[in-house]
Amino acid sequence: MRIILCAEQTRRSYDSGLGRFTDDEAIPCFRCGVCCQRWQPLVGRLEAERLAAFLGLSLGAFLERHTRRYPLAEDTYQLLGQDGGCVFLTFENGRAGCAVHEARPQACRDWDASLARRECLDGLRLLRADTGPLAPVTLYDGPDAEVFVQHLRRQRSLPPTG
Ligand code: SF4
Repeated sequence: MRIILCAEQTRRSYDSGLGRFTDDEAIPCFRCGVCCQRWQPLVGRLEAERLAAFLGLSLGAFLERHTRRYPLAEDTYQLLGQDGGCVFLTFENGRAGCAVHEARPQACRDWDASLARRECLDGLRLLRADTGPLAPVTLYDGPDAEVFVQHLRRQRSLPPTG
């Protein structure tokens, strides 16, 4: 079930099936990697323990190698950055990946790809730079391509394809 919340100009929708907020500009993630290049998420102790276990490290070794202490909150750490983004960001064939995807922080799980996000718009611009406005159809391998193209066409008041 989808619940729409409105407050002045802000409109959010909560999908109880997904258990999280989505928004009307939501799009499938096209793995540009821009969000992971711009942000390094905060993790609490439980998340740090989960990541450490995933990597086969002790908590102390994980904190030492991959985080810095976040000064504004107790028991909170920030994943380190590296050239080009989060320390766990990977790229293969031009698509972004996460080396700790199964154990990734909650902040990363909560990130919804959206045309309302500057990062997604910048990523889309990068990915489609020389291949035209509906290039995402060549960027997805699965049914997400069709969903995304139809979304863009609705946004531009174009009739659906197919
Ligand atoms: S942990 Fe993974 S999903 Fe989260 S910012 Fe780093 S690379 Fe991206």
